[in-house]
Amino acid sequence: MVPATPRPEDTYDVAIVGGGIAGLAAAWRLRNRRCILLEADARPGGRLYSIGWAGIPLNLGAHMVPGAGSTVGDLVAEMGLETRRLPPNLFGLEYRGRRHLHLPTPLLPFAMRLTFTERLAFIRMGAKLRLGARRSVAGGRMREGESADDVRARQLAFEDERTLADAVGPLPERVNLLFRALTERNGADPSEMSAGHGLRSFANVWARTAPGTNLVGGTSMLPIALANRLGPIVKPGHRVVQARLTRSETDPVVTLTVEGPAGEHAIDARTCILATPAHVTRAIAAGLPPAALSALERIRYGAYLTMSIALDPMDHVSWKDTYAIATPDLAFSVLFNHDAMRHEPNGHSVMLFRGALGAARSIAEDEPTLVSRWLEDLEMRFPETRGRVRHVEIAKWQTGAPFATPGRARLQPALDAVEGPFLLAGDYLEFPNMEAAAGSGRRAAERAERLLALP
Ligand SMILES: Cc1cc2nc3c(=O)[nH]c(=O)nc-3n(C[C@H](O)[C@H](O)[C@H](O)COP(=O)(O)OP(=O)(O)OC[C@H]3O[C@@H](n4cnc5c(N)ncnc54)[C@H](O)[C@@H]3O)c2cc1C
Repeated sequence: MVPATPRPEDTYDVAIVGGGIAGLAAAWRLRNRRCILLEADARPGGRLYSIGWAGIPLNLGAHMVPGAGSTVGDLVAEMGLETRRLPPNLFGLEYRGRRHLHLPTPLLPFAMRLTFTERLAFIRMGAKLRLGARRSVAGGRMREGESADDVRARQLAFEDERTLADAVGPLPERVNLLFRALTERNGADPSEMSAGHGLRSFANVWARTAPGTNLVGGTSMLPIALANRLGPIVKPGHRVVQARLTRSETDPVVTLTVEGPAGEHAIDARTCILATPAHVTRAIAAGLPPAALSALERIRYGAYLTMSIALDPMDHVSWKDTYAIATPDLAFSVLFNHDAMRHEPNGHSVMLFRGALGAARSIAEDEPTLVSRWLEDLEMRFPETRGRVRHVEIAKWQTGAPFATPGRARLQPALDAVEGPFLLAGDYLEFPNMEAAAGSGRRAAERAERLLALP
């Protein structure tokens, strides 16, 4: 492919590829530079995605937003957006027709419909997960003399040599099904993800290190506000098909081939932040070191499927004080209560979720069948919703979540060694969430600043 020669006005200090929260956080930091952000989609935000329907926010992507002191929290504050705390009870369970919303998790196996053997296996499994989650939290604490990079490296290396299924050991069939339903929010089966990855996700819930707020109006409020404030820097509808290293006499330059509304054109930049998912970065970046390309190729992603529903106002909502209700024996595996996102109590907003293999299977279904199957289960187990569904939206995330497989920590040095003129950003660089993505974007921008300051 021979790209057209860039015009002088198409030469930038920094080109950012990808307008998810990683790319937008980088662009915000670099907004006073000659900088451009190229986003393939018509909307910014990537996996931060919500819409409004008749004044009710319907969230379809990420939703739990970290608070003050985090990169995302600071951006939310700078954009002047309103947040609301999640309902006080983070987690509940609906299983085989019994709802357990206020029971402490260690007591759940005693209340659930299980045989004696299953109950015992469930208790053992719970103890192993709790112990592992505690070790994961302890490993994430910064020790004297350590940098944030040291902590990240230690967290990645934690329980990295075996799978979560191996760490937990064999389980009776029904307990195994429950276990898989509880871990599918990582986009993977316990037999695929590393033990460290799975334990970290439990630690986030139990140690309440999970982000604790919702954005009023829906999570898209953040990328929309950032894109508006960045103005002409952000170019939606511009897909980068290649970013390759070219050299001028004095400086290395990255030349990007871009497909935009006016056809294909080229852009030159002194540094290029690749804030795209690992497989996209692998496909478009020509000139990354072979070890980095091979590491990018080995980052695995799992599927997510979300169905967001607007409900008529209801007098009694049984999940009012609960944020997430696991539903392991239904078509969807979690119901999220998103009423905290509403400006006014003009109806209810819930998001049904499925991850991993269950999501991959549901994505393949035709949409009318999928919708009626999920709504049937919703109305059967949450009868207060009967006849109250006003609107349904679906989002299919084929590559919803990167997850660590055993040996993932060994890929990190090759990714960390990419130091310019290409720079990497994105949630796949650590335990994936919006804070990891935004933090990686901010760090890539700081590195870009340092590179640009070099004589
Ligand atoms: C259903 C769901 C629920 C989640 N829940 C939470 C949660 O509650 N809390 C939390 O913290 N995280 C959550 N996450 C994870 C969070 O959304 C991600 O970790 C984060 O948004 C990733 O940001 P990113 O910028 O790295 O990637 P992305 O958001 O994927 O952004 C990458 C961008 O690159 C663009 N792009 C791709 N190819 C090209 C190209 N060739 N040229 C130009 N642009 C391109 C894409 O269109 C996209 O906009 C959830 C994710 C999903 C899907």
